Formats: sequence, structure tokens, C-alpha cells
Amino acid sequence: MSSDERIIMRHPIVEMDGDEMTRVLWRKIKETLLAPFVALYTEYYDLGLPERDRTGDVVTREAAEAIKRLGVGVKCATITANAQRVEEYNLKQMWPSPNATLRAALDGTVFRAPITVRNILPTVRTWKKPIVIARHAYGDIYKGVEMRVPGAGAAELAFTDADGVMTTVPIHQFVGAGILQAVYNTDASIEAFARSCFRFALSVGQDLWFAAKDTISKRYDHHFKDTFERVFELEFRDAFTTVGINYYYMLIDDAVARVVRSEGGFVWACKNYDGDVMSDMVSAAFGSLAMMTSVLVSPNGQFEYEAAHGTVTRHYRRFLAGETTSTNPVATIFAWTGALRKSGEIDGNADLVNFANRLELACVDVIEGGQATRDLTPLSVAPMEALSTDEFLAAIKTRLAKA
Ligand code: NAP
Ligand code: MG
Repeated sequence: MSSDERIIMRHPIVEMDGDEMTRVLWRKIKETLLAPFVALYTEYYDLGLPERDRTGDVVTREAAEAIKRLGVGVKCATITANAQRVEEYNLKQMWPSPNATLRAALDGTVFRAPITVRNILPTVRTWKKPIVIARHAYGDIYKGVEMRVPGAGAAELAFTDADGVMTTVPIHQFVGAGILQAVYNTDASIEAFARSCFRFALSVGQDLWFAAKDTISKRYDHHFKDTFERVFELEFRDAFTTVGINYYYMLIDDAVARVVRSEGGFVWACKNYDGDVMSDMVSAAFGSLAMMTSVLVSPNGQFEYEAAHGTVTRHYRRFLAGETTSTNPVATIFAWTGALRKSGEIDGNADLVNFANRLELACVDVIEGGQATRDLTPLSVAPMEALSTDEFLAAIKTRLAKA
């Protein structure tokens, strides 16, 4: 394809560069698989750690504002600074996680979806379609307070309203030592979570499941259940009927039992702790973190796509030492295709949507045809050829150019 035949984008998307091996992949993916076919139109933000440090992390907040303005973003994996990174990069301070900054700015929910291929079977043999997990990323035990109870005494829960009026509820009369915990959530956050989940289910045309423990937690979990039901009835029931999908509420233990007996192909909305635990279970059972995509959806319908894995530091060290690496680029490619497809849908740009679909198919075809990076070859049901990152990208390009 000559450059003047490339697909045109009508509006820009937000491009957020990142760190280490995924930054290397980022450039290779753009050069090999995107730029030859699409005249990329992006607003570029460098969220690599050196630039975050140089700008005092302003660049991350600007990127978040750009996603609010433009509606669609694609992000490379980034280093979350810790004490070791402060030393390694000589940082001015330990900057917050870019993902946490973006999540807070967009008030978003993270949806994680596995990319499935026929020759790598899920551990759960009934699963035929991906299961998407939506984790409520605010409150509960992650913002809880705890106390060690040293000995006998009375514990109570107290709330003081704006007028100074206090309401208390007895918790427990301790006769000896023990432990205490208090957790909270807010109506605003639960409603935003519910809206993001309904909106996402609509955008992928899949049923939404939500599960909690309302039979035991009659105020707390019941409030989640009621909020989902109210938001669904008032804002989403008609759209769900039109698309032909359903919303189901169930108890969390019932949901777990149903999930492992299901065929997959639905969105599972989880409270914070359930999502933390269940997303690791689901991604392990589907095969590999390198085949897991992630999208942050705001309640206003803004979308930010990325791979679920990190910057693959161990491979980067080998890359810097001049070794040939076999790092799997698929989740990062799917972050790009997710963003390009969404942009194409918003703009009514069928060529861009088709390109995204064809690129995803090319990745799957190469793997199903028996070639992949080294993380996948041992998981396959039939022998596979292990390729380097560059060879794998070239194979995808050949497949894509043929299509
Ligand atoms: P990681 O980058 O996900 O890598 C952990 C291990 O998983 C790798 O060493 C590799 O195993 C395997 N792996 C992950 N992605 C792979 C891929 N695409 N292809 C092949 N193998 C892959 O997690 P980490 O090493 O714990 O974290 C590294 C950095 O990433 C940290 O600074 C962390 O803060 C950051 N991080 C960022 C995000 C994000 O931006 N969303 C998420 C998580 C972590 P082998 O070495 O055995 O081959
Ligand atoms: Mg977890």
C-alpha cells in the first residue's frame, strides 16, 4: 500500500507512550503494523518515567484531560515508581501510578478481557468465549480502617452528620482481644461503576452479571444491588432490549459456581475485592497475562485501552544487553485496535473499523497457524514454532497485507 492509499482518521485519539520493553514494542508496532496502513492521527503524551519526572507528573494529568476531551485513548505500559525506581531513575519524588491518576480523573472502571486462540485451551474446559471482568476500583477494604482490639471492651460504629448529630450502632462486646475493621463506599462511586458496566456491556453486546452478598450484608451489599437495579431500570433497560442482551443479579457464591460451568461470553461486574481475586483466577485460567487486554471506561463514555501486563522489565534488560527477545506484543496491538475501532465507530469510519478487525484476525491467524512468542508456545495443544518479537511482528504484517 502506498502512503496516499492509507486509511484517514477524522479525529485524533490520545496516544500515551510508556516505559522499558513495552516502549520498544510500541514503536515497532506503529512502524510495522499501523503506519503503513493508517495515517495515524494522535495527540501524543509521553508517560515514560523520565518525562513524568521532568514535568512533575503534569504530563499524566494533561493526558487524562485529553482523554476527557477526545473520548478515546491508547496507553503503553508504564513503570509504577517505587523506592528502587526512585534510585534507578534518580527521581525527584515517588510519582503516583499513572493508571491510578487516569482512573481517578475519569472516575472509570477497568474491564479486563482475554484474547482467545483455538490452539491454547482454557483450563476450564467449558469456556468457549472470553469472560470480561469489571472490577469496582474504589473503596471497601482498599480504603478501610482497622484496629487491633487489645482486650475486653465495647466496639461501636459512629457517624456524625453535618449538624453534629451522632448515630451509633453497637458492633461487638469483646470479652478478650480481637480485631476490628470499618469499610465504606459512596453512592456516587457505586452509580458510576454501575453506569460504566451497563455502557460497556452495550458496547460489546454481551450480558452483564453482577454479584454481591446481599443476603448477609443487608445494608452494604444490598445497596450495591439496589443501585445496579435502579440504574438499569431508569437508564439502560430499553437499550439492552434493543441490543438483545440481559442484566442478571446473583449472589457471589452462585456466580462463581455458574462462571465455571458457563461457556463464557459475558461481562462479570465484581465488587472491589471480588474483582481483585477473580480477575487473577480468570486470567490464569485463560492462559497468559500477555494475552489480556484492559480498557478503562468512564461513566460518561470515554475509553482508554491498554495491555493488562507491565513493562516486562526482565526482557528489557536482555534487550539492552543486545539479546534477541521474544516478548509478546499481542495485548499491546489489541490496545491499539481497540482504540482505533472505537474511534472508527464514533466517526462512522468503516475503513478504520475494518482495519482494526483485520489486524486482530491477523494476530490470531498467525498464532493458530502455529507461530508465536516463547510465552505461548509451551501452552499450545500442538507443537509451535517460537519466534522473536521481530519475526512475529513480520509474520503478522505478511498476514495483514494479504487480507
Ligand atoms: P510484567 O511487566 O507484567 O512482567 C512480569 C512477567 O510476565 C515477565 O517477566 C514475563 O515473564 C511475563 N510477561 C508479561 N508480559 C509479557 C509479554 N508481553 N510477553 C512475554 N512475557 C510477558 O510485570 P512486572 O515485571 O511485575 O512489572 C514490571 C513493571 O511494569 C513495573 O515497574 C510495574 O510497575 C509495571 N506495571 C505496569 C502496569 C501498567 O502500566 N498497566 C501493569 C503492571 C505492572 P518471563 O520473564 O518469565 O518471560
Ligand atoms: Mg489481584
